[in-house]
Amino acid sequence: MFVSVAGSAARVPTRWRKEVERILITDDAIAQRIREMSREIARDFKGREMVVVSLLNGTVMFLADLIRNLSLPLRLDFIGVSSYGAGTESGDLVFTKELRLDVRGRDVLLVDDILDTGKTLFRVLAKLKALKPRRIKTCVLLNKAARRVEKVEADYVGFEIPDFFVIGYGLDFAERYRNLPFVGVLHSHVYKQVAAKPASARKPAASPRS
Ligand code: 5GP
Ligand code: MG
Repeated sequence: MFVSVAGSAARVPTRWRKEVERILITDDAIAQRIREMSREIARDFKGREMVVVSLLNGTVMFLADLIRNLSLPLRLDFIGVSSYGAGTESGDLVFTKELRLDVRGRDVLLVDDILDTGKTLFRVLAKLKALKPRRIKTCVLLNKAARRVEKVEADYVGFEIPDFFVIGYGLDFAERYRNLPFVGVLHSHVYKQVAAKPASARKPAASPRS
């Protein structure tokens, strides 16, 4: 499903209007798409007990909505991964939480919030493959194909989005905005402001172009 550059016509709630320029994907559109994705995943994993492996922290909302729509036996675990260094270019990945469930011989569904350069999924997939699961399928809410560096694609994609830095529905900017129920685009003054403060600086991977 492709999201146009213009995004949705839905109005940004008054509380967020100063920070959020516009809504790219509404909560209703997300909910509907997740129901479709869940049906597809349920079909593919039928008869198997799956292990869902989700990447912290951005998947929090997507994961919760996805698995509550999956009527399959499943076990759930998390891998913590953060990118450090200048900006959010995910070159230097640091694992902050390791997988605890044994996935050897299991059917794994790897869940991430957004597939951007592909560096994160590429690294995590290599790590998971070494644990010898029966198979790994990958699932992301958002895909920014335009920014791909590594040769990696997801098996299930919620929305194909243009090259914008997005926030909301679990996705953050400087750890904020994860609680927004929609996926939106920040006003440029917000990230310029934060980037100007060295301690909390976190430049977006791609600047919104308006
Ligand atoms: P990749 O390694 O594919 O470049 O990036 C994956 C990670 O970078 C995502 O899991 C997410 O944490 C972060 N990321 C990439 N693009 C965006 C974006 O537009 N907004 C936010 N908030 N995070 C992003
Ligand atoms: Mg992430």
